[in-house]
Amino acid sequence: MKLRVAGFLDNTMVNGKGLRSTLFLSGCNHNCEGCQNKEMQSFQYGDDVELEKINERIKRNIPLISGVTFSGGEPFEQAKELTELAKKIKEENLDIWCYTGYTIEEILKSNDEYKLNLLKQLDVLVDGKFNKHLVEGALKYTGSRNQRIINLKEVNIF
Ligand code: SF4
Repeated sequence: MKLRVAGFLDNTMVNGKGLRSTLFLSGCNHNCEGCQNKEMQSFQYGDDVELEKINERIKRNIPLISGVTFSGGEPFEQAKELTELAKKIKEENLDIWCYTGYTIEEILKSNDEYKLNLLKQLDVLVDGKFNKHLVEGALKYTGSRNQRIINLKEVNIF
């Protein structure tokens, strides 16, 4: 099983709490005005990479990292395959943050089993489209004020 990958950072402190590896997934239809990762909007951008290869790279960063972040692009467009990677990451006791242009309400209402299955694997969701008019005063780890950092282990959604 493969994911279309736009990029990978072994360890970074800007995409969530603590030192984390970040996986950027290719492809996004949200088309936010002022998108900083415009090249990653293309579903052709990047490379097809085997899940096991990504997992091995993540594992090489243990014990330095406390978790993994999915970003993009729109990670939820590859929800089926990403859920399988997320399960492997959880086996290593790493937490998972995920950025998405969807709101959590949109994901829950989608009735898309793959998106819902991915949501179940996550610890933290940073949700909502980037809004360049709401940048000032945005929370740490978010790009604009409308985006929320949702601790999925504290909210009873399923
Ligand atoms: S969701 Fe992210 S990658 Fe997609 S268009 Fe918006 S800012 Fe760009």
